[in-house]
Amino acid sequence: MNSSPDVIVIGGGPAGSTAATLVAQQGFKVQLFERMKFPRFHIGESLIPETYWVLERLGMLEKLKKTNFVKKYSVQFVNAMGKLSAPFYFWDNKPHECSQTWQVVRSEFDEMMLNNAREHGVEAEEGVHVRDVIFENDHAVGVIIRNEDGSEREVRARVVIDASGQSGLLQHKFKLRIWDPLLNKGAIWTYWEGAYRDTGKDEGATIVLQTANKQGWFWNIPLHDNRVSIGVVAPFDYLFKGRNDHEKTYEEEVERCPAVKERVANAKRVTGYFATRDYSYRATKVAGNGWVMVGDAFGFLDPLYSSGVLLALKSGQLAADAVVDGLRKNDVSEAQLGAWGPAFNVGVDRMRRLVCEFYDGFSFGALMRKNPELRGTVTDLLIGDLFDERVDCVWPAIEELYPEGKKLPMGWDGGTPMELATHKANELVLPDGARP
Ligand SMILES: Cc1cc2nc3c(=O)[nH]c(=O)nc-3n(C[C@H](O)[C@H](O)[C@H](O)COP(=O)(O)OP(=O)(O)OC[C@H]3O[C@@H](n4cnc5c(N)ncnc54)[C@H](O)[C@@H]3O)c2cc1C
Repeated sequence: MNSSPDVIVIGGGPAGSTAATLVAQQGFKVQLFERMKFPRFHIGESLIPETYWVLERLGMLEKLKKTNFVKKYSVQFVNAMGKLSAPFYFWDNKPHECSQTWQVVRSEFDEMMLNNAREHGVEAEEGVHVRDVIFENDHAVGVIIRNEDGSEREVRARVVIDASGQSGLLQHKFKLRIWDPLLNKGAIWTYWEGAYRDTGKDEGATIVLQTANKQGWFWNIPLHDNRVSIGVVAPFDYLFKGRNDHEKTYEEEVERCPAVKERVANAKRVTGYFATRDYSYRATKVAGNGWVMVGDAFGFLDPLYSSGVLLALKSGQLAADAVVDGLRKNDVSEAQLGAWGPAFNVGVDRMRRLVCEFYDGFSFGALMRKNPELRGTVTDLLIGDLFDERVDCVWPAIEELYPEGKKLPMGWDGGTPMELATHKANELVLPDGARP
Protein backbone atom coordinates (compact mmCIF):
# COMPACT_ATOMS: atom_id res chain seq x y z
CA MET A 1 0.00 0.00 0.00
CA ASN A 2 1.69 3.22 -1.13
CA SER A 3 -0.31 5.86 0.73
CA SER A 4 -1.44 5.60 4.35
CA PRO A 5 -4.50 3.43 4.91
CA ASP A 6 -7.73 4.98 6.16
CA VAL A 7 -8.06 2.26 8.78
CA ILE A 8 -5.65 -0.03 10.59
CA VAL A 9 -6.92 -3.26 12.14
CA ILE A 10 -4.89 -4.97 14.87
CA GLY A 11 -5.44 -8.76 14.74
CA GLY A 12 -6.80 -11.12 12.11
CA GLY A 13 -9.24 -13.22 14.16
CA PRO A 14 -12.96 -13.23 13.34
CA ALA A 15 -13.54 -9.74 14.78
CA GLY A 16 -10.63 -8.15 12.92
CA SER A 17 -11.40 -9.86 9.60
CA THR A 18 -15.06 -8.83 9.88
CA ALA A 19 -14.37 -5.18 10.64
CA ALA A 20 -11.65 -4.96 7.99
CA THR A 21 -13.77 -6.58 5.26
CA LEU A 22 -16.83 -4.44 5.89
CA VAL A 23 -14.84 -1.18 5.87
CA ALA A 24 -12.95 -2.21 2.72
CA GLN A 25 -16.24 -3.14 1.01
CA GLN A 26 -17.15 0.56 1.24
CA GLY A 27 -14.06 1.60 -0.70
CA PHE A 28 -11.76 2.60 2.16
CA LYS A 29 -8.13 1.51 2.39
CA VAL A 30 -7.65 -0.99 5.20
CA GLN A 31 -4.42 -2.48 6.47
CA LEU A 32 -4.57 -5.39 8.94
CA PHE A 33 -1.66 -6.65 11.02
CA GLU A 34 -1.70 -10.15 12.50
CA ARG A 35 1.16 -11.27 14.71
CA MET A 36 0.81 -14.98 13.94
CA LYS A 37 1.21 -16.85 10.67
CA PHE A 38 -2.07 -18.48 9.65
CA PRO A 39 -3.29 -21.17 9.94
CA ARG A 40 -2.90 -20.96 13.71
CA PHE A 41 -4.67 -22.83 16.49
CA HIS A 42 -7.60 -21.16 18.26
CA ILE A 43 -10.34 -22.34 20.57
CA GLY A 44 -13.99 -21.36 19.91
CA GLU A 45 -15.30 -23.93 17.45
CA SER A 46 -19.07 -23.87 17.75
CA LEU A 47 -20.94 -21.18 15.82
CA ILE A 48 -24.50 -20.13 16.59
CA PRO A 49 -27.11 -19.31 13.94
CA GLU A 50 -27.15 -15.52 14.25
CA THR A 51 -23.62 -15.45 12.80
CA TYR A 52 -25.41 -16.06 9.48
CA TRP A 53 -26.34 -12.42 8.89
CA VAL A 54 -22.83 -11.08 9.34
CA LEU A 55 -21.33 -13.97 7.35
CA GLU A 56 -23.78 -13.08 4.58
CA ARG A 57 -22.56 -9.46 4.47
CA LEU A 58 -18.98 -10.70 4.42
CA GLY A 59 -19.64 -12.93 1.41
CA MET A 60 -18.65 -16.01 3.45
CA LEU A 61 -21.78 -18.15 3.21
CA GLU A 62 -21.11 -19.79 -0.14
CA LYS A 63 -17.54 -20.52 0.95
CA LEU A 64 -18.69 -22.12 4.19
CA LYS A 65 -21.23 -24.25 2.36
CA LYS A 66 -18.37 -25.77 0.35
CA THR A 67 -16.36 -26.81 3.44
CA ASN A 68 -16.43 -30.08 5.34
CA PHE A 69 -17.32 -28.31 8.57
CA VAL A 70 -19.91 -30.29 10.51
CA LYS A 71 -23.42 -28.86 10.16
CA LYS A 72 -25.00 -27.88 13.45
CA TYR A 73 -28.79 -27.81 13.82
CA SER A 74 -29.30 -27.83 17.58
CA VAL A 75 -27.98 -27.66 21.10
CA GLN A 76 -28.76 -30.09 23.86
CA PHE A 77 -28.22 -30.19 27.64
CA VAL A 78 -27.46 -33.07 29.98
CA ASN A 79 -28.07 -32.31 33.66
CA ALA A 80 -26.06 -33.47 36.67
CA MET A 81 -28.21 -36.60 36.95
CA GLY A 82 -27.34 -37.52 33.35
CA LYS A 83 -30.80 -36.61 32.04
CA LEU A 84 -30.77 -35.40 28.45
CA SER A 85 -33.02 -32.46 27.53
CA ALA A 86 -34.95 -32.54 24.27
CA PRO A 87 -32.76 -30.88 21.62
CA PHE A 88 -33.39 -27.21 20.89
CA TYR A 89 -33.68 -27.42 17.11
CA PHE A 90 -33.05 -23.99 15.64
CA TRP A 91 -35.07 -24.79 12.50
CA ASP A 92 -38.27 -25.50 14.49
CA ASN A 93 -38.17 -21.96 15.68
CA LYS A 94 -36.94 -20.25 12.53
CA PRO A 95 -37.46 -22.23 9.33
CA HIS A 96 -34.78 -20.42 7.37
CA GLU A 97 -31.38 -21.58 6.17
CA CYS A 98 -29.78 -19.42 8.91
CA SER A 99 -30.88 -22.12 11.35
CA GLN A 100 -28.16 -24.43 10.14
CA THR A 101 -24.77 -23.32 11.34
CA TRP A 102 -21.35 -24.97 11.64
CA GLN A 103 -18.85 -26.52 14.03
CA VAL A 104 -15.62 -25.08 12.65
CA VAL A 105 -11.95 -25.88 13.06
CA ARG A 106 -10.78 -22.38 13.89
CA SER A 107 -7.40 -22.59 12.18
CA GLU A 108 -9.29 -23.22 8.92
CA PHE A 109 -12.20 -20.84 9.58
CA ASP A 110 -10.01 -17.91 10.63
CA GLU A 111 -7.76 -18.37 7.60
CA MET A 112 -10.82 -18.38 5.33
CA MET A 113 -12.07 -15.19 6.95
CA LEU A 114 -8.69 -13.49 6.55
CA ASN A 115 -8.34 -14.53 2.92
CA ASN A 116 -11.90 -13.34 2.32
CA ALA A 117 -10.87 -9.95 3.74
CA ARG A 118 -7.99 -9.88 1.25
CA GLU A 119 -10.42 -10.64 -1.58
CA HIS A 120 -12.36 -7.56 -0.53
CA GLY A 121 -9.27 -5.38 -0.78
CA VAL A 122 -7.83 -5.54 2.74
CA GLU A 123 -4.05 -5.60 2.82
CA ALA A 124 -3.36 -8.17 5.53
CA GLU A 125 0.15 -8.89 6.80
CA GLU A 126 0.89 -11.91 8.98
CA GLY A 127 3.80 -12.31 11.36
CA VAL A 128 3.65 -8.59 12.17
CA HIS A 129 3.24 -7.54 15.79
CA VAL A 130 1.54 -4.26 16.64
CA ARG A 131 3.65 -3.03 19.53
CA ASP A 132 1.72 0.12 20.35
CA VAL A 133 -0.88 2.60 19.19
CA ILE A 134 0.38 6.13 18.53
CA PHE A 135 -1.62 8.96 20.10
CA GLU A 136 -1.45 12.69 19.34
CA ASN A 137 -3.66 15.15 21.24
CA ASP A 138 -5.75 12.30 22.66
CA HIS A 139 -6.40 10.91 19.16
CA ALA A 140 -5.16 7.56 17.87
CA VAL A 141 -3.24 8.33 14.68
CA GLY A 142 -1.51 5.05 13.86
CA VAL A 143 0.51 2.13 15.18
CA ILE A 144 4.09 1.02 15.71
CA ILE A 145 4.64 -2.41 14.27
CA ARG A 146 7.46 -4.87 14.73
CA ASN A 147 8.34 -6.88 11.64
CA GLU A 148 9.52 -10.47 11.76
CA ASP A 149 13.17 -9.37 11.45
CA GLY A 150 12.77 -7.21 14.57
CA SER A 151 12.75 -3.91 12.69
CA GLU A 152 10.05 -1.41 13.58
CA ARG A 153 8.01 1.06 11.54
CA GLU A 154 5.13 3.45 11.99
CA VAL A 155 1.94 3.23 9.98
CA ARG A 156 -0.56 6.08 10.19
CA ALA A 157 -4.30 5.97 9.63
CA ARG A 158 -7.46 7.93 10.47
CA VAL A 159 -8.88 5.10 12.60
CA VAL A 160 -7.36 2.17 14.52
CA ILE A 161 -9.57 -0.85 15.19
CA ASP A 162 -8.27 -3.00 18.03
CA ALA A 163 -9.21 -6.65 17.38
CA SER A 164 -6.28 -8.11 19.31
CA GLY A 165 -8.39 -10.70 21.15
CA GLN A 166 -7.85 -11.49 24.81
CA SER A 167 -4.42 -9.84 24.77
CA GLY A 168 -6.42 -6.58 24.54
CA LEU A 169 -3.78 -4.09 23.48
CA LEU A 170 -5.72 -0.89 24.18
CA GLN A 171 -7.65 -2.39 27.08
CA HIS A 172 -4.35 -2.91 28.86
CA LYS A 173 -2.80 0.35 27.75
CA PHE A 174 -5.67 2.31 29.31
CA LYS A 175 -6.47 -0.20 32.11
CA LEU A 176 -10.06 -0.51 30.91
CA ARG A 177 -10.63 -4.18 31.71
CA ILE A 178 -13.22 -5.08 34.36
CA TRP A 179 -13.37 -8.73 35.39
CA ASP A 180 -16.73 -10.33 35.91
CA PRO A 181 -16.80 -11.28 39.62
CA LEU A 182 -19.27 -14.11 39.04
CA LEU A 183 -17.95 -15.77 35.94
CA ASN A 184 -14.41 -16.46 37.09
CA LYS A 185 -13.91 -19.82 35.46
CA GLY A 186 -11.21 -21.86 33.80
CA ALA A 187 -11.23 -24.55 31.13
CA ILE A 188 -9.25 -27.68 30.23
CA TRP A 189 -9.86 -29.42 26.95
CA THR A 190 -8.50 -31.92 24.47
CA TYR A 191 -9.45 -33.56 21.15
CA TRP A 192 -10.66 -37.12 20.63
CA GLU A 193 -10.83 -39.30 17.56
CA GLY A 194 -13.60 -41.88 17.35
CA ALA A 195 -15.65 -40.52 20.25
CA TYR A 196 -19.35 -41.31 20.17
CA ARG A 197 -21.27 -39.20 17.66
CA ASP A 198 -25.02 -38.91 17.38
CA THR A 199 -26.52 -39.54 13.98
CA GLY A 200 -28.73 -37.72 11.51
CA LYS A 201 -29.49 -34.13 12.26
CA ASP A 202 -28.21 -34.58 15.82
CA GLU A 203 -24.71 -35.45 14.62
CA GLY A 204 -23.53 -31.85 14.71
CA ALA A 205 -25.23 -30.80 17.94
CA THR A 206 -23.31 -29.06 20.66
CA ILE A 207 -23.96 -30.90 23.90
CA VAL A 208 -23.51 -29.21 27.26
CA LEU A 209 -23.12 -31.79 30.04
CA GLN A 210 -23.12 -30.90 33.71
CA THR A 211 -20.80 -32.82 36.03
CA ALA A 212 -22.45 -34.84 38.81
CA ASN A 213 -21.24 -32.51 41.58
CA LYS A 214 -22.56 -29.50 39.55
CA GLN A 215 -19.16 -27.82 39.90
CA GLY A 216 -18.60 -27.71 36.18
CA TRP A 217 -19.80 -28.65 32.74
CA PHE A 218 -18.34 -30.23 29.61
CA TRP A 219 -18.73 -29.10 26.03
CA ASN A 220 -18.96 -31.80 23.39
CA ILE A 221 -18.40 -30.32 19.92
CA PRO A 222 -18.14 -32.73 16.98
CA LEU A 223 -15.69 -31.55 14.33
CA HIS A 224 -14.93 -32.92 10.89
CA ASP A 225 -12.19 -35.53 10.36
CA ASN A 226 -13.80 -37.68 13.06
CA ARG A 227 -12.59 -35.41 15.87
CA VAL A 228 -14.56 -34.22 18.85
CA SER A 229 -13.57 -31.26 20.98
CA ILE A 230 -14.38 -32.03 24.62
CA GLY A 231 -13.57 -29.57 27.39
CA VAL A 232 -14.51 -28.92 30.98
CA VAL A 233 -15.29 -25.49 32.41
CA ALA A 234 -15.45 -24.92 36.17
CA PRO A 235 -14.62 -22.26 38.75
CA PHE A 236 -10.99 -21.30 38.43
CA ASP A 237 -10.08 -22.18 42.02
CA TYR A 238 -11.82 -25.56 41.77
CA LEU A 239 -10.07 -26.46 38.53
CA PHE A 240 -6.56 -25.15 39.13
CA LYS A 241 -5.86 -24.48 42.82
CA GLY A 242 -3.77 -27.36 44.13
CA ARG A 243 -4.50 -29.30 40.93
CA ASN A 244 -1.54 -28.65 38.68
CA ASP A 245 -1.73 -31.67 36.42
CA HIS A 246 -4.23 -30.85 33.65
CA GLU A 247 -4.44 -34.45 32.47
CA LYS A 248 -5.25 -35.72 35.96
CA THR A 249 -7.82 -32.98 36.59
CA TYR A 250 -9.50 -33.63 33.23
CA GLU A 251 -9.65 -37.36 33.90
CA GLU A 252 -11.11 -36.75 37.36
CA GLU A 253 -13.81 -34.52 35.88
CA VAL A 254 -14.59 -37.11 33.18
CA GLU A 255 -15.14 -39.59 36.03
CA ARG A 256 -17.66 -37.12 37.46
CA CYS A 257 -19.56 -36.99 34.19
CA PRO A 258 -20.66 -40.49 33.16
CA ALA A 259 -22.22 -39.21 29.92
CA VAL A 260 -18.82 -37.89 28.77
CA LYS A 261 -17.08 -41.03 30.01
CA GLU A 262 -19.34 -43.12 27.80
CA ARG A 263 -18.71 -40.88 24.81
CA VAL A 264 -14.92 -41.26 24.99
CA ALA A 265 -14.85 -44.90 26.13
CA ASN A 266 -13.71 -46.17 22.71
CA ALA A 267 -11.99 -43.00 21.56
CA LYS A 268 -8.34 -42.09 21.16
CA ARG A 269 -7.03 -38.79 22.47
CA VAL A 270 -5.15 -37.12 19.63
CA THR A 271 -3.72 -33.97 21.23
CA GLY A 272 -2.38 -32.90 24.58
CA TYR A 273 -4.42 -30.94 27.11
CA PHE A 274 -5.12 -27.24 26.61
CA ALA A 275 -5.98 -24.95 29.47
CA THR A 276 -7.12 -21.38 29.82
CA ARG A 277 -8.35 -19.03 32.47
CA ASP A 278 -11.47 -17.84 30.76
CA TYR A 279 -12.53 -15.21 33.18
CA SER A 280 -15.21 -13.07 31.63
CA TYR A 281 -14.46 -9.38 31.32
CA ARG A 282 -15.50 -6.25 29.55
CA ALA A 283 -13.94 -2.84 28.95
CA THR A 284 -15.41 0.24 30.56
CA LYS A 285 -15.79 1.83 27.14
CA VAL A 286 -15.73 0.61 23.58
CA ALA A 287 -14.02 3.50 21.80
CA GLY A 288 -11.99 6.67 22.05
CA ASN A 289 -11.06 9.37 19.59
CA GLY A 290 -9.78 7.61 16.49
CA TRP A 291 -10.02 4.09 17.94
CA VAL A 292 -12.53 1.39 18.67
CA MET A 293 -12.33 -2.14 20.12
CA VAL A 294 -14.08 -5.24 18.78
CA GLY A 295 -14.43 -8.92 19.73
CA ASP A 296 -12.50 -10.25 22.70
CA ALA A 297 -10.40 -7.06 22.64
CA PHE A 298 -13.53 -5.38 24.02
CA GLY A 299 -15.13 -8.14 26.06
CA PHE A 300 -15.27 -11.87 26.65
CA LEU A 301 -18.22 -13.84 27.97
CA ASP A 302 -18.09 -17.35 29.41
CA PRO A 303 -18.39 -19.76 26.44
CA LEU A 304 -21.34 -21.76 27.82
CA TYR A 305 -23.63 -20.89 24.91
CA SER A 306 -20.90 -20.56 22.25
CA SER A 307 -21.50 -16.84 21.80
CA GLY A 308 -17.88 -15.66 21.34
CA VAL A 309 -17.59 -15.74 17.56
CA LEU A 310 -21.07 -14.24 17.17
CA LEU A 311 -20.11 -11.36 19.46
CA ALA A 312 -16.83 -10.94 17.56
CA LEU A 313 -18.66 -10.79 14.23
CA LYS A 314 -21.46 -8.58 15.52
CA SER A 315 -19.16 -6.05 17.20
CA GLY A 316 -16.92 -6.13 14.13
CA GLN A 317 -19.92 -5.27 11.99
CA LEU A 318 -21.27 -2.54 14.29
CA ALA A 319 -17.85 -0.94 14.62
CA ALA A 320 -17.22 -1.11 10.86
CA ASP A 321 -20.52 0.66 10.15
CA ALA A 322 -19.68 3.37 12.69
CA VAL A 323 -16.19 3.78 11.21
CA VAL A 324 -17.47 4.03 7.62
CA ASP A 325 -20.10 6.56 8.66
CA GLY A 326 -17.49 8.54 10.61
CA LEU A 327 -14.97 8.57 7.77
CA ARG A 328 -17.64 9.80 5.37
CA LYS A 329 -18.65 12.69 7.59
CA ASN A 330 -15.14 13.33 8.82
CA ASP A 331 -16.00 12.52 12.45
CA VAL A 332 -13.87 9.87 14.11
CA SER A 333 -14.64 11.02 17.64
CA GLU A 334 -15.27 8.65 20.55
CA ALA A 335 -19.00 9.45 20.37
CA GLN A 336 -19.17 8.48 16.68
CA LEU A 337 -17.02 5.34 16.81
CA GLY A 338 -18.54 4.03 20.03
CA ALA A 339 -22.21 4.92 19.48
CA TRP A 340 -23.12 1.23 19.09
CA GLY A 341 -21.56 0.19 22.43
CA PRO A 342 -24.48 0.63 24.89
CA ALA A 343 -26.99 -1.33 22.78
CA PHE A 344 -24.39 -4.03 22.16
CA ASN A 345 -23.81 -4.36 25.91
CA VAL A 346 -27.54 -4.80 26.52
CA GLY A 347 -27.50 -7.74 24.09
CA VAL A 348 -24.43 -9.29 25.72
CA ASP A 349 -26.10 -8.87 29.11
CA ARG A 350 -29.00 -11.03 27.96
CA MET A 351 -26.60 -13.86 27.13
CA ARG A 352 -24.71 -13.22 30.35
CA ARG A 353 -27.89 -13.52 32.38
CA LEU A 354 -28.68 -16.87 30.76
CA VAL A 355 -25.12 -18.00 31.61
CA CYS A 356 -25.49 -16.88 35.24
CA GLU A 357 -28.88 -18.60 35.53
CA PHE A 358 -27.26 -21.89 34.39
CA TYR A 359 -24.52 -21.61 37.00
CA ASP A 360 -27.20 -20.79 39.55
CA GLY A 361 -28.97 -24.10 38.97
CA PHE A 362 -31.52 -23.07 36.36
CA SER A 363 -33.02 -26.03 34.47
CA PHE A 364 -34.11 -25.68 30.85
CA GLY A 365 -36.24 -28.78 31.33
CA ALA A 366 -38.12 -27.29 34.31
CA LEU A 367 -38.74 -24.03 32.45
CA MET A 368 -40.04 -25.85 29.38
CA ARG A 369 -42.33 -28.08 31.43
CA LYS A 370 -43.87 -25.08 33.18
CA ASN A 371 -43.83 -22.68 30.22
CA PRO A 372 -43.87 -24.69 26.98
CA GLU A 373 -44.95 -21.54 25.12
CA LEU A 374 -41.49 -20.05 25.84
CA ARG A 375 -39.52 -22.73 23.95
CA GLY A 376 -39.32 -20.47 20.89
CA THR A 377 -38.06 -17.45 22.82
CA VAL A 378 -35.49 -19.54 24.71
CA THR A 379 -34.32 -20.93 21.39
CA ASP A 380 -34.06 -17.34 20.11
CA LEU A 381 -31.64 -16.59 22.94
CA LEU A 382 -29.67 -19.76 22.24
CA ILE A 383 -29.29 -18.88 18.55
CA GLY A 384 -27.91 -15.48 19.55
CA ASP A 385 -30.96 -13.32 18.84
CA LEU A 386 -29.88 -11.02 21.66
CA PHE A 387 -30.52 -7.56 20.41
CA ASP A 388 -34.30 -7.38 20.67
CA GLU A 389 -36.14 -6.70 23.94
CA ARG A 390 -38.89 -9.10 22.79
CA VAL A 391 -36.81 -11.95 24.31
CA ASP A 392 -36.95 -10.40 27.79
CA CYS A 393 -40.29 -12.13 28.43
CA VAL A 394 -38.32 -15.23 29.56
CA TRP A 395 -36.91 -13.64 32.72
CA PRO A 396 -40.10 -13.41 34.81
CA ALA A 397 -40.84 -17.06 33.98
CA ILE A 398 -37.32 -18.06 35.03
CA GLU A 399 -37.69 -16.08 38.26
CA GLU A 400 -40.90 -17.94 39.04
CA LEU A 401 -38.81 -21.12 39.26
CA TYR A 402 -36.71 -19.65 42.08
CA PRO A 403 -37.27 -20.97 45.57
CA GLU A 404 -39.06 -18.56 47.90
CA GLY A 405 -36.90 -15.69 49.11
CA LYS A 406 -34.19 -16.01 46.54
CA LYS A 407 -32.91 -12.71 45.19
CA LEU A 408 -32.98 -11.75 41.55
CA PRO A 409 -29.86 -12.72 39.71
CA MET A 410 -27.47 -9.97 38.81
CA GLY A 411 -27.40 -7.99 35.60
CA TRP A 412 -24.21 -6.51 34.31
CA ASP A 413 -25.35 -2.98 34.97
CA GLY A 414 -27.65 -3.59 37.91
CA GLY A 415 -27.30 -5.69 41.03
CA THR A 416 -23.77 -6.78 41.73
CA PRO A 417 -21.32 -4.07 40.73
CA MET A 418 -18.46 -5.09 38.54
CA GLU A 419 -15.14 -4.86 40.32
CA LEU A 420 -11.76 -3.93 39.04
CA ALA A 421 -9.54 -6.86 39.80
CA THR A 422 -5.88 -7.55 39.37
CA HIS A 423 -5.95 -10.96 37.73
CA LYS A 424 -3.31 -11.65 35.16
CA ALA A 425 -4.41 -11.50 31.56
CA ASN A 426 -6.05 -14.68 30.33
CA GLU A 427 -3.48 -17.12 29.20
CA LEU A 428 -3.69 -20.11 26.98
CA VAL A 429 -1.46 -22.99 27.99
CA LEU A 430 -0.65 -25.11 24.98
CA PRO A 431 0.32 -28.74 25.40
CA ASP A 432 3.82 -29.77 24.46
CA GLY A 433 4.28 -29.85 20.72
CA ALA A 434 1.03 -28.01 19.92
CA ARG A 435 1.29 -25.26 17.39
CA PRO A 436 0.27 -21.94 18.93
C1 LIG B 1 -12.46 -22.29 26.48
C2 LIG B 1 -13.13 -21.46 25.43
C3 LIG B 1 -14.12 -22.04 24.63
C4 LIG B 1 -14.75 -21.25 23.65
N1 LIG B 1 -15.72 -21.81 22.88
C5 LIG B 1 -16.37 -21.05 21.96
C6 LIG B 1 -17.36 -21.63 21.12
O1 LIG B 1 -17.66 -22.83 21.18
N2 LIG B 1 -17.96 -20.82 20.22
C7 LIG B 1 -17.65 -19.49 20.10
O2 LIG B 1 -18.26 -18.80 19.27
N3 LIG B 1 -16.68 -18.94 20.87
C8 LIG B 1 -16.04 -19.68 21.79
N4 LIG B 1 -15.05 -19.12 22.53
C9 LIG B 1 -14.76 -17.70 22.35
C10 LIG B 1 -13.94 -17.41 21.09
O3 LIG B 1 -12.74 -18.15 21.14
C11 LIG B 1 -13.60 -15.91 21.00
O4 LIG B 1 -14.67 -15.13 21.47
C12 LIG B 1 -13.26 -15.47 19.59
O5 LIG B 1 -12.12 -16.16 19.12
C13 LIG B 1 -12.99 -13.96 19.54
O6 LIG B 1 -12.50 -13.56 18.27
P1 LIG B 1 -11.53 -12.29 18.17
O7 LIG B 1 -11.32 -12.05 16.71
O8 LIG B 1 -12.05 -11.18 19.00
O9 LIG B 1 -10.18 -12.73 18.87
P2 LIG B 1 -9.13 -13.83 18.41
O10 LIG B 1 -9.81 -14.90 17.66
O11 LIG B 1 -8.35 -14.19 19.62
O12 LIG B 1 -8.18 -13.06 17.39
C14 LIG B 1 -7.29 -12.06 17.84
C15 LIG B 1 -6.09 -12.07 16.92
O13 LIG B 1 -5.27 -10.93 17.21
C16 LIG B 1 -3.91 -11.30 17.11
N5 LIG B 1 -3.14 -10.33 17.90
C17 LIG B 1 -3.17 -10.19 19.24
N6 LIG B 1 -2.35 -9.18 19.62
C18 LIG B 1 -1.78 -8.70 18.47
C19 LIG B 1 -0.84 -7.67 18.23
N7 LIG B 1 -0.33 -6.91 19.22
N8 LIG B 1 -0.46 -7.44 16.94
C20 LIG B 1 -0.99 -8.18 15.92
N9 LIG B 1 -1.88 -9.19 16.12
C21 LIG B 1 -2.28 -9.43 17.39
C22 LIG B 1 -3.88 -12.72 17.63
O14 LIG B 1 -2.76 -13.45 17.17
C23 LIG B 1 -5.21 -13.29 17.10
O15 LIG B 1 -5.04 -13.95 15.88
C24 LIG B 1 -14.37 -19.88 23.48
C25 LIG B 1 -13.36 -19.35 24.27
C26 LIG B 1 -12.75 -20.11 25.23
C27 LIG B 1 -11.66 -19.48 26.06
